[in-house]
Amino acid sequence: MKSFGYAAHSVGSPLEPFSFERRDLRNNDVAMDILYCGVCHSDLHYVKDDWAKTVYPCVPGHEIIGRVTEVGSGVSKHKVGDIVAVGCMVDSCQECDQCKKDHEQYCREGWTGTYNAPDRQTGDLTQGGYSNNLIAREEFVLTVPDGLDISKAAPLLCAGITTYSPLREWNVGPGSRVGVVGMGGLGHMAIKLAHAMGAIVTVISRSPDKQKDAEALGAHNFLVSKDADQMAAYANGFDLIIDTVPVKHDVNPYLPLLDIDGTLCLVGQIGPLEELTTPFMIRGRRRVAGSIIGGIKETQECLDFCARFGIHPEVEMINIQDINTAYERLERSDVHYRFVIDMKSLQA
Ligand code: NAP
Ligand code: ZN
Repeated sequence: MKSFGYAAHSVGSPLEPFSFERRDLRNNDVAMDILYCGVCHSDLHYVKDDWAKTVYPCVPGHEIIGRVTEVGSGVSKHKVGDIVAVGCMVDSCQECDQCKKDHEQYCREGWTGTYNAPDRQTGDLTQGGYSNNLIAREEFVLTVPDGLDISKAAPLLCAGITTYSPLREWNVGPGSRVGVVGMGGLGHMAIKLAHAMGAIVTVISRSPDKQKDAEALGAHNFLVSKDADQMAAYANGFDLIIDTVPVKHDVNPYLPLLDIDGTLCLVGQIGPLEELTTPFMIRGRRRVAGSIIGGIKETQECLDFCARFGIHPEVEMINIQDINTAYERLERSDVHYRFVIDMKSLQA
């Protein structure tokens, strides 16, 4: 299938228009035209090769809303014309204990990323959603429920599920005390989702100017992480802290904020942290954990949850031609709070 999108061709180079081929439709595949694609900080990590694994040319994009254009003969879940969604994964082994538990994100063989991953059959590199079309096997294509505004829903496919999954895993519900470190794409979704689950939500941010927005998104409290007095006032104040900071940082200041048995769940930085000090962990069974996206079943649950509660990401819509400026702003944390690319702009 002929495709057209925007790709990075080398470390640090701007994204440029790029024509490429996708595999032909298989029996269990769904093909779609892409309508909208969110811009995740992970896309920027890939473009800059922060994780030393990017294969160029790389078409990023794993927050995808599309309309089905063709289905393989064995496909029963979706039909031509359906509005569908694809997140970070397009395949996994489907056989290991984790896949059988609907935890494809922990597939023992490793899942296949929507971009920058070898296709499990051909070995060809997958390419993502900053493009006009996509093919994925039906198990990894989600249903967009009525009630979601499709122009805003794309970020649910990564920022949404990445924060929904730990909120569920740590049983967040009415009265849970949840802290959110970093108010960007993931962080702002954590606020909305935790609020809808009934939690008391506190944003922990470097940026005092985000307080008004935080409250509008549903946060009850706002804590400036650089203010030692404010931080001290929250000692033992959280059951769960979700840390979305995208770079190496020091988590030690957050540990005394956890209550006994509380958990700090890292979802942002994939790589080294500043050295950990253990007293608060040992003298309080506090945990430092991590979590990656969520399984397909849970991602559908997240979409359905958002439709039911009327939760939408805060979106700044851009044209694909503006992607390099958008990356500069993402790097400066100057996004309110997720860029979404209107793929109609590709036709220009
Ligand atoms: P983002 O929109 O850039 O938001 C990150 C937020 O972290 C910023 O708004 C800022 O919030 C804070 N921050 C940024 N730079 C910082 C620094 N140097 N020190 C301290 N705080 C800083 O990014 P995102 O799209 O939410 O992604 C966040 C991270 O999650 C990325 O590393 C991404 O790769 C990763 N990610 C992981 C998963 C997963 O499955 N685990 C999924 C998606 C993304 P304040 O101004 O409020 O401090
Ligand atoms: Zn992402």
